[in-house]
Amino acid sequence: MQIKRLRLSGFKSFVDAADLRIEPGLTGIVGPNGCGKSNLLEALRWTMGETSARSLRGAGMEDVIFAGTATRPAREFAEVSMLIERAPADDGSVEETEIVRRIERGAGSAYRIDGRDVRAKDVALLFADAATGAHSPALVSQGRISAVIAAKPAERRAMLEEAAGIAGLHVRRKDAEQK
Ligand code: ATP
Ligand code: MG
Repeated sequence: MQIKRLRLSGFKSFVDAADLRIEPGLTGIVGPNGCGKSNLLEALRWTMGETSARSLRGAGMEDVIFAGTATRPAREFAEVSMLIERAPADDGSVEETEIVRRIERGAGSAYRIDGRDVRAKDVALLFADAATGAHSPALVSQGRISAVIAAKPAERRAMLEEAAGIAGLHVRRKDAEQK
């Protein structure tokens, strides 16, 4: 799976619409302290379905919405669109998929996949099938290195399962058990 484009509006410090194309290969995000580098990675995790406000450095989920500055009023919603390229079948074909998450003050989060309203679980399944997601071990935030080193064996096993791409099977099993 490859992320091709990220569009943000009203997410944390990205009050104005930002449109980032991500080229194949290694991408580096550089800039002075406080310019929004970590916010960008949080936007990725948030769009993939992150449900922990704390891991997004907030007290509540609405803290991802632009809170306003001395010169600019707060926004009422935050929206992030992520364009990915993935190989849903084993036949070598690739297709583009757009995932959108939006949060409005007082109204909670909504998700869309290619323009269709979907459940958070559908987004989780999409990323689980691609062996990635908001908790992918590939996304290591500032300060998380020590957590990986200090992880208990069971936690480390979960990380290895994610990396091996079998964590999606657990999500599918839970989904099946609930039906
Ligand atoms: P460092 O190099 O220090 O790690 P960084 O580039 O990772 O910095 P971030 O942590 O991404 O910077 O951005 C921090 C900035 O985002 C702060 O100025 C903070 O005020 C701003 N910010 C965070 N949440 C919001 C919000 N909801 N509304 C407005 N601004 C926000
Ligand atoms: Mg940072």
